Amino acid sequence: MSPDEARFIAPGFHRDAEFLMSKPSSRTIECPFAKRHPSQLVRDDAFFMSLAYNRAIDAWRQDEVPIGAVVVRDGEVIGSAHNQVDASRDPTAHAEMLAITQAAAAIGDWRLNECTLYVTKEPCPMCSGAMIMARLGRVVYAVADPKMGCLGGATNLNALERANHHCELTSGVLEAECRELLQAYFRLKRQKPAPDVPRPSTADFADGV
Ligand SMILES: [Zn+2]
Repeated sequence: MSPDEARFIAPGFHRDAEFLMSKPSSRTIECPFAKRHPSQLVRDDAFFMSLAYNRAIDAWRQDEVPIGAVVVRDGEVIGSAHNQVDASRDPTAHAEMLAITQAAAAIGDWRLNECTLYVTKEPCPMCSGAMIMARLGRVVYAVADPKMGCLGGATNLNALERANHHCELTSGVLEAECRELLQAYFRLKRQKPAPDVPRPSTADFADGV
């Protein structure tokens, strides 16, 4: 298990030595979670985080680590994206980066002071930096990331004293749901195939296929 994944796994899983030694599966796992359908009448933090959660579901359905983000201005979603690092083979294709780019294009300004970004996991160093550079007015995240989170989890780029911008921060919105999604994704990716699923014999690879 890589440190990236370990921080989202419940402590009980660490007791399974075989599990720890297993390699992540390359097979696609069907997402067992349904999208949320929040009331349109109450457009609070939980509502917009639900939209980010739904984008995370989209990521899973495309076999990407399930993280989603939306950017909101005046109650309107102007950026909405999910992680697509694998599909695009682009290490910068995090949900937050893509949503920020969309939002800036939507308003024709790189300054996002009037915007709020919702993301299902605490942003990494790259995304936290981008949020400060974009002068995002407010950032709301669901699950803290003590390993790589840079808005208070591992460190806090938002606390740089000389920075010319600081984001208003809120955490823990829809935390349980977003944590379960991440944990389940890594857990299921590491499970062995069911016994009734035929596994390829070595003969299948005899010609180097
Ligand atoms: Zn990131």
